[in-house]
Amino acid sequence: MHEPRRTIPGQTIDSEIDVAVVGAGPVGGALACHLARGGRRVVVIDRAALPPMEHPDFDGRAYAIAAGNQRFLAEAGLWDGLPFTPCPIEQIRVSDGRPGRPPSPLFLHFDHAEANTGPFGWIVEARSLRIALNAALAATPGLTVFAPAAVQVQRQAEGANIEIAGGPRLAARLVVAAEGRASPLREAAGIPVTRIPYRQSGLVAAIAHERDHRNVALEHFLPGGPFAQLPMSGTEDAPHLSGIVFTERTATAERLHRLPDAAFTAEVARRLGHHLGAIRLVGKRWCYPLSAMHAARYFDTRLALVGDSAHGVHPIAGQGLNLGLRDAAVLAELILAGGDPGSEGLLRAYQAARRGPNLLMLAATDALDRLFSNDNPAIRLARDLGIAAVHRAPPLKRFFIRRAMG
Ligand SMILES: Cc1cc2nc3c(=O)[nH]c(=O)nc-3n(C[C@H](O)[C@H](O)[C@H](O)COP(=O)(O)OP(=O)(O)OC[C@H]3O[C@@H](n4cnc5c(N)ncnc54)[C@H](O)[C@@H]3O)c2cc1C
Repeated sequence: MHEPRRTIPGQTIDSEIDVAVVGAGPVGGALACHLARGGRRVVVIDRAALPPMEHPDFDGRAYAIAAGNQRFLAEAGLWDGLPFTPCPIEQIRVSDGRPGRPPSPLFLHFDHAEANTGPFGWIVEARSLRIALNAALAATPGLTVFAPAAVQVQRQAEGANIEIAGGPRLAARLVVAAEGRASPLREAAGIPVTRIPYRQSGLVAAIAHERDHRNVALEHFLPGGPFAQLPMSGTEDAPHLSGIVFTERTATAERLHRLPDAAFTAEVARRLGHHLGAIRLVGKRWCYPLSAMHAARYFDTRLALVGDSAHGVHPIAGQGLNLGLRDAAVLAELILAGGDPGSEGLLRAYQAARRGPNLLMLAATDALDRLFSNDNPAIRLARDLGIAAVHRAPPLKRFFIRRAMG
């Protein structure tokens, strides 16, 4: 049962809604679909047009979606709409090494069979998620999208006024900032942010390879930064396909990014090893400067921060989007339980549930980065022994498996 709606005194409004989500990225979009499917009246506003985000060609970018978030995306009506089959991650291999040399013999190997569950997660092409999102945003009853559109938000204790340029004036009980890292709503609320620069950049590409990846993901810790090979579903042109994400100091990453295809491919091969046979690049390659950040609070009057608006982690563990989707799942569950979606009690409960796990992941990925982006022989030995110890201790392995599954 919904509580009676309150109109903000002195304001003329066209419509009253439950939740206005600002930002139609994967986190805001999935949250909006989930809430609308749960019977809430939802509006989504994005400053950019949504169709161009679909990138018609394969572009090499992919997300690792943890098993818990797969369920959330399914409940939001997105999973079944993915146009390209996601690839399950059935095994994860973590090793330590140096480019051009075989991985350290001490490595961690996680097999989903040991956790007695389904896959650890799935690799989903970024454009596949975008196509499914755009289709669901257009088709979900109870949900209205304004994009491209500028929005002005005024928040008071009773509710928020949403003014969409060229569109209606709305009264919402809750505004969700899902605007990505540079969140104007977070800034307008005066919520401070702690930033950690990494002086590293991430290189992202996709490769076709000779041999089957057998749904194994590889995380290879190299002195310049981690290197990940993520198994993807093949295409007609490239039946054996993987995503590649690796980090290097920014000057090195920029130099690698500018290399001709053959030389760049040779650099990838040096880091990957030979287990997949000959490789070739598919699609584009990308280079992103990396940093981590965390908002001091996840809420303000009638405002909740989700996804990258609240936190950004090092991509070492591929957890950025996963944390955002967990935010969305927790906020959706609290809102759909009933009551006022923008009440201070609900927003406090949301923050209490999400700040701890997000901070833990931020600290863990930061520590991993410091531990692994290092060529000191003593640290190398200590971390190899640590890796071997986890490998021999089934309860510890299960702990890591559960965390990886979200
Ligand atoms: C190299 C790299 C690799 C990564 N790999 C992974 C991975 O494997 N797995 C993973 O989980 N995560 C990964 N991430 C992180 C992931 O990309 C982000 O965490 C995710 O995109 C955050 O989603 P979001 O919806 O919060 O924000 P965004 O994707 O940034 O979306 C924000 C949306 O808000 C809109 N917007 C912005 N400002 C306004 C405004 N003022 N008004 C209206 N709309 C606005 C934008 O147009 C955009 O549509 C990676 C990141 C990098 C850099």
